[in-house]
Amino acid sequence: MRQRYLKFGEWLQRLELLSAADLAAALQTQADPAQPARYIGEILLAEGLISEAVRDGVLALQKLLGDSTRLAEMPIAPEVLRKIPPRFARDNAVLPLTQIADHLVVALAQTDSEPLLAELTELTGCRIYPLPYRAADILAAAQVVYDPRRASQAGMEWIHEALPMDGPLITFVGSGDAVSTGARNQTCIHVRSEECTFLIDCGPASLSAMKQLGLPPQQLQGILLTHAHGDHFGGVPYVLLEQVLAGRSAPFWVMGPAPVLERVQQWNELAFPKLFDQPPFELLWLEIEQEPRALPGTGAMVYPFAMHHQRSLPCLGYQIHLAEEKIIAYTGDTAWCDNLVLLARDTDLLICECSAYEPLPEAVRHLSYQELLAHQAELKTRQLMLTHLGQEMLTRAAQGEIAFECAFDGLTLDLSSRLD
Ligand SMILES: [Zn+2]
Repeated sequence: MRQRYLKFGEWLQRLELLSAADLAAALQTQADPAQPARYIGEILLAEGLISEAVRDGVLALQKLLGDSTRLAEMPIAPEVLRKIPPRFARDNAVLPLTQIADHLVVALAQTDSEPLLAELTELTGCRIYPLPYRAADILAAAQVVYDPRRASQAGMEWIHEALPMDGPLITFVGSGDAVSTGARNQTCIHVRSEECTFLIDCGPASLSAMKQLGLPPQQLQGILLTHAHGDHFGGVPYVLLEQVLAGRSAPFWVMGPAPVLERVQQWNELAFPKLFDQPPFELLWLEIEQEPRALPGTGAMVYPFAMHHQRSLPCLGYQIHLAEEKIIAYTGDTAWCDNLVLLARDTDLLICECSAYEPLPEAVRHLSYQELLAHQAELKTRQLMLTHLGQEMLTRAAQGEIAFECAFDGLTLDLSSRLD
């Protein structure tokens, strides 16, 4: 406990909020056996040496520093936060942490950038106290803050109005494997582009996960499916039921290989008999096999690539060319195959399944980290993001042993701007 008191005093001094003499006097008062036992902050407060805001701010800072994963707890007045445009914060890897009187403690990737510090000072009117953090940590924390659900807890709903939706925005609604290892949702990737919003695959929990993430299901225009395993299509009937109950009138499409669409139609019928026979909106079943196909009503094109996964039914990976001139690709489930090289080529983002750390038996037909490492030079993508992660991948990723980025549920990527 003593250490914590000392740290409290140390922080007050580093922030120049308390003189060494005042702290020494307060420590002496604390050590006086004639005085009641008191926390140093209470003594400083009682003697008018610090304000309540300073005490609370420094305590919040100590809490934050104890664990960098708590970077996103932001006890800062919204009016101060509003002065830092989210786009500026993200582009410069800047994350305000806490406010102590007129000091703003900010996590920064580049603490020695004088122009950046000057700009922050000007924007906020505060004295900036920079704490060095890795850009990746700041980005991860910013992504938590920008998550609408958590932003509202932090009183930061405004951030979504302030953050320009340049996009395309890719949100991992489900980044787990077939058995939700690590309590992650099964596969579902949400794509928001200028002219279309759709899901790629739709695992069983996708509808509730979308709602938790604040992604309105009614805004979807369709679902693109890679293959006929339940962890990739099990959530389709619920997403469709949501459209029916919401009184949808606009068309809704489901695209995938013909045998996959057939399975999904059977599954819909089992889940809600006859409900989707004559839905109140046009339900389009769009087959894709070898030829590219446009997403209805848009200029976005889907290019299919045959993958190696399910033996009896086709499994496709997709390149999707979006209006913003960005190309995203997703492998679905697959073993290593030469088509992965073609799928990855010239993409802005390659979302790649990675079920295991070490290669699996051939019959399992899933990818491993070791295989991806061996083929890394062949995957010509600007950003590789692993998903569909099994236990060993999660464990090793948590220990920092994975050289590629790993998705997590709720992660949103804005392809219009990057921190790299
Ligand atoms: Zn599968």
